[in-house]
Amino acid sequence: MHAEAWQGIRNGFESDRLAHAYVIVGSPRGNALQFAESFLKLLFCENTDKPCNECPSCRRIEAHKHVDTLWIEPQSKSRQIKADEVRALVHRITQTSFEGGWKAGVILAADCMNTNSANILLKTLEEPPSKTILLIVTNSPQALLPTIISRCQKVVLSDNSAEMPDSVWQAPLMNILRALPPASGLDAARLASSLKALFEIVKAGIADAVGGDLDQADEALDGSKLKDIIDARINSLLKEVQAEVFRVILDWHRDVLLLASGIDEQRLIFPDELESLREQAVLHTQGSALKSMQVIEGMARRLERNIPDLQIFDEAFRTLTR
Ligand SMILES: [Zn+2]
Repeated sequence: MHAEAWQGIRNGFESDRLAHAYVIVGSPRGNALQFAESFLKLLFCENTDKPCNECPSCRRIEAHKHVDTLWIEPQSKSRQIKADEVRALVHRITQTSFEGGWKAGVILAADCMNTNSANILLKTLEEPPSKTILLIVTNSPQALLPTIISRCQKVVLSDNSAEMPDSVWQAPLMNILRALPPASGLDAARLASSLKALFEIVKAGIADAVGGDLDQADEALDGSKLKDIIDARINSLLKEVQAEVFRVILDWHRDVLLLASGIDEQRLIFPDELESLREQAVLHTQGSALKSMQVIEGMARRLERNIPDLQIFDEAFRTLTR
């Protein structure tokens, strides 16, 4: 599928003319991840017919455990790639390799780098260490610094237009989470509408992208069949985002539970939100925080049955009212 892009990398490898850094545009959990793994296998494979996918090196690459490679990614979708992580990656690839060959760093979902992280990376790109490859994987290259892009060779596997960038829903979701628990029934209704609005925005974005994709691809299909296909695809993509959103809401409540239980702050999923989390935790006992998590899980479950979403959100947020 990406034969041309792959051949380009192969030629570069065989003629010893690889670039120091590549931006791989595609899904960081799908095609671009696989491409990055194949790329590294090509570098590290122990057999002549590279990549063999079978030698210990190929296997270690696949497990993301090769000693001369380092992978970083945002630990949870709601989080950024922090400067410390990029610093650790840069540190690793500027040192001597353990096995005497290549060293490689991979940044998955690189668009999640914050400004500090991006600047550290940029510095490395300006003075790349020798025998080193950096793979920067993203499905939204427009979110990277242009100065980063310009220093990398670009490999476009897919423009992933149907994939909703996480940034579309993250900021509004964090606003909702910080406003919890609702102070009154009215407040609960307001937050429920905000959550509903968030999903409407996501859905509209997906619909645009999917419609555009299919209009081009399936001109031969008749109108009603095309609409069915589009609707099914929108719904399945929307469900994926919904599941992710509920996972973040659940993670948030898990942090509140940890704080309400007096457990070490080091283990928070949202350490940057410590202040809001603390304010919410003091309103809870361990028992009530646990109950909040159950309410959120119940919301996610009810969404799968055909209950109107606003009703589900409204009832759940009312239950969470302090
Ligand atoms: Zn191999």
